[in-house]
Amino acid sequence: MSRIALVTGGSRGIGAAISTALKDKGYTVAATYAGNDEAAAKFTEETGIKTYKWNVADYDASKAGIEQVEADLGPIEVVVANAGITRDAPFHKMTPDQWNEVIATNLTGVFNTIHPVWPGMRERKFGRVVVISSINGQKGQFAQVNYAATKAGDLGIVKSLAQEGARAGITANAICPGYIATDMVMAVPEKVRESIIAQIPAGRLGEPEEIARAVAFLVSDDAGFINGSTISANGAQFVV
Ligand code: NDP
Repeated sequence: MSRIALVTGGSRGIGAAISTALKDKGYTVAATYAGNDEAAAKFTEETGIKTYKWNVADYDASKAGIEQVEADLGPIEVVVANAGITRDAPFHKMTPDQWNEVIATNLTGVFNTIHPVWPGMRERKFGRVVVISSINGQKGQFAQVNYAATKAGDLGIVKSLAQEGARAGITANAICPGYIATDMVMAVPEKVRESIIAQIPAGRLGEPEEIARAVAFLVSDDAGFINGSTISANGAQFVV
C-alpha cells in the first residue's frame, strides 16, 4: 500500500529531507513550495518527487492545490505542515508587516494546509498530521516575537486536533526542532551561528534527516497511540 503524503515546503531544507524520507519508506509524496522554481525543479529531478507551487498563506490557493494533488495522486492520508518563514526584529523595531507575514505563513498556513484534507481523513477514518513547530515556540526567542507566537500557536493547533481526530483514527503531533543546518539557519551571520552552537549541549547543529526520521515514525502505523504530542529534537538545548 502506498499512502499519499503532502509535505508543505517540501522541496528545500527540512521539508526536502522529510519528503525524501517518506518516499524512501514507500509513500507517494507531493512536495509544495512557494516560489523557488529552480530549487523545486532540481529537487524533482534528483528525487522523482512531484512538486506543486502555492502560497500556504492563501486558503483558496491551498484548497485548489490540494484538490489538484488528490486528482493527480489520490486521497491525502499524511500531511506534514512544514513551510515556514522568519522575519526577525527586536519587538520595538518589528513592523506590522513582519508580524502579519509570519502569522499568515506559519500559523494561518498550517490551518490552510490541514483544513482542506481533514474531512477526507475523517471520512476514511485514518489520518496522520505532523506540524513542524520550533524550539523557539517552546521557549521564546529574542527578536522572534512573531515567529515564537506562531510556533507556540502551532502546538495549540496540534493538541486540539489530536482531541478532535482521535475517534476518527487521526493523529496530530508536533516536532520542535532546535537549530538545524538549513538555508534558514545558514543565512544567520557566522558569528551568531557560532554563539548558537555554543548553547547546544550536543555541540553541533541538527541535520534535516534527524527531523525527517522523527516525522517518518510519527506518521507510521506504529505511532497510532501517539497523539497530541510534541517531540523536541534539539540536541538538549532546551529540555522541557
Ligand atoms: P527553508 O527556508 O530551508 O525552506 C522553507 C520551505 O518552505 C521552502 O520550500 C519554501 O519554498 C517553503 N515556503 C516558505 N514560505 C512558504 C509559503 N508561504 N507557501 C508555501 N511554501 C513556503 O526552511 P527550513 O527547512 O529551515 O524550515 C522548515 C520548517 O522548520 C519551518 O517551519 C521552520 O520554521 C522550522 N524550523 C526550522 C529550524 C531550523 O533550524 N532550520 C528550527 C526549528 C524549526 P521556496 O523553496 O519556494 O522558498
